[in-house]
Amino acid sequence: MQLDIPIQYLKGVGPKNAEKMKKRLGIETVRDLLFYFPRTYLDFSHPMSIKSLRLGDEAVIKAKITDLKKIRTPRRHMFIIETLLSDGTGEIKAVWFNQIYLVKILKPGDEWLFFGKVSWDFKNKEKTFNVLNFEKDDKILAVYPETEKLTSKYLRKIISEVLNNVRIDDPLEGVKEVELFEKLNDAIKKIHQPKSQGQITEAKKRLAFDELLMIALRVQKLKSEQQYLKSISFNIDNKILKEFVSKLPFNLTKAQRKTAWEIICDLAKAKPMNRLLEGDVGSGKTVVAAMAVLVAAQNKKQSVWLAPTEILANQHHQNVSKLLSPFNVKVGLLTSANKKADLEKDDLIIGTHALIQKNIRIKNLALIIVDEQHRFGVKQRSYLKKADTNFVPHFLSMTATPIPRTLALSIYGDLDLSIIDELPANRQSIITKIITEKQRADAYNFIENEIKSGRQAFVICPLIEELETEGKLFDLDKKSVLKEYEKLSKNIFPQFKIGLLHGKLKSSEKEKVMSDFKTGKINILVSTAVVEVGIDIPNATVMMIEGAENFGLAQLHQFRGRVGRGKHQSYCFLFPSIWSEKVKERLGAMVTCSDGFRLAEIDLKLRGPGELYGLRQSGLPALKMATFSDTILVEKSKKIAQNIVDEGIKNYPKLQQKLQELETEQHPE
Ligand code: ADP
Ligand code: MG
Repeated sequence: MQLDIPIQYLKGVGPKNAEKMKKRLGIETVRDLLFYFPRTYLDFSHPMSIKSLRLGDEAVIKAKITDLKKIRTPRRHMFIIETLLSDGTGEIKAVWFNQIYLVKILKPGDEWLFFGKVSWDFKNKEKTFNVLNFEKDDKILAVYPETEKLTSKYLRKIISEVLNNVRIDDPLEGVKEVELFEKLNDAIKKIHQPKSQGQITEAKKRLAFDELLMIALRVQKLKSEQQYLKSISFNIDNKILKEFVSKLPFNLTKAQRKTAWEIICDLAKAKPMNRLLEGDVGSGKTVVAAMAVLVAAQNKKQSVWLAPTEILANQHHQNVSKLLSPFNVKVGLLTSANKKADLEKDDLIIGTHALIQKNIRIKNLALIIVDEQHRFGVKQRSYLKKADTNFVPHFLSMTATPIPRTLALSIYGDLDLSIIDELPANRQSIITKIITEKQRADAYNFIENEIKSGRQAFVICPLIEELETEGKLFDLDKKSVLKEYEKLSKNIFPQFKIGLLHGKLKSSEKEKVMSDFKTGKINILVSTAVVEVGIDIPNATVMMIEGAENFGLAQLHQFRGRVGRGKHQSYCFLFPSIWSEKVKERLGAMVTCSDGFRLAEIDLKLRGPGELYGLRQSGLPALKMATFSDTILVEKSKKIAQNIVDEGIKNYPKLQQKLQELETEQHPE
């Protein structure tokens, strides 16, 4: 079987399911399917004792059905099966709704392996085992990220079909050190159909190594390509820079001064700057980058400043013009809606994607600044760099994604790193609270009062639409923007104007909603995570996050950074949709800690692999298996990548091809 054939041709996959899998899971070919890795496993071979179950636990228990009642609710015509499960250490209640056929399968006295979740039955005030799956044998089942009727059971079936009929070509074949790892073909088999935990570990190791190696190779390649590039060496006029700093309405922080200096030193070199400026939301990156623009303008060279959205471009245009106009730096704006730029005469052109999509030439371009660079692909960057053939412009990218230094060095190893690791002293702290269901009404009252006194609020939800519950075991508790929007505008805040924002809106629609929020036409904005980019709404004082446990800490911190930007005291309310010790620990960190880097590190520790917010948008291949905290594997992959590049990647054609594929891959938002 060829890996490139569309999954539609597989047994059991019709055109309808194929379409769904493409749309919902991004699976188009047999290869995609094989590299769609389990989210976790259902290990029936290690049951827990009932006695040890804690609220919120997902666990397997091996238990006898000691009591079984069929109940028919009089009003809603529901069939309920209620049983007691017992394993010698204790007993726990289990309930099934509307699955009357189970009476034929689950017989009193029989012993089964049950997988489920311990939850609190509010009505009867007792712990209940919410059974999601049960088996006779102690096997290990792969559990996939599921969606809309594409259940794990279904995925296991079609993947099993494929595994019996393919051999996977190994791009690392011939790379000597790789022999230490599992063969790719075996690793893929074992990741989907493990016979033991040990097999999962081995398979993960190989697959993680592959991901890290591709990243390390890319970094090595970029680095070696940069060695010989030339750029303009700028004259640095300290007097003007001092004047600029003295004219600011505030004192620069120590970190701002340090990073500005690092950037300015780069600009004095004849080699292009290639630097990443990392700083938490509100740490003041704009003014640091503006200093670089000032240096270029003093040298009669032009700069370009790219923002991820039209609104942000406008915002930058306003702020940066104000900073630089006393120095006669001409700042233009170029977006799809606004063409107030003079490509010949402007010293700085601020714009969006539109700026680089059109065939635009900026004759004296010598500095490119990119805000939130992980939204920009490598290709787009190189396009701009080719704008002038005599030299390569200096390049500064900025991000508020708090990536710990060691991690940043691994993934952006081709970039030099400057970190603004402190906030200006005058920052107000945002009052952060975890809100339980019981306190929900109070929180709504609070929001109502804020809005009545003229403020605005965000409501963030994890999903766009409610998932169908059938067969969808794991995401039952997640809230959707569509439903929340309905609820808030109809029932809770009918007197206010509520806006709706999510990734499926056209970008013009998104811009419209955001600008209505900015101008105060909308009081409450209900949104998915799309809102997180550095939008500045000083009047917004409440950030309310539904299903808060679904987000990484660094991302929650980004959301929180959307408020507290004006003079009013601001609040962040975290609404967990499930409650457990783990959730409490993670969200608790948000309450006690307001440092993005620190939170990113805590998250890295608590949640581990691939989850760190921002990496997915970093323009890198998604990390499905690897974790950068596995320093041994990271180092190994770097070393092997180095060897391969030194020896010449041409010697490994399959690898070279894979690297090219990754580079040309589209990275949608
Ligand atoms: P970010 O790093 O998130 O891009 P900005 O550059 O937008 O942050 O700065 C956020 C706000 O802080 C702006 O209003 C800016 O004028 C202000 N600011 C920047 N540096 C300082 C400072 N050292 N002291 C006080 N306010 C500052
Ligand atoms: Mg910014």
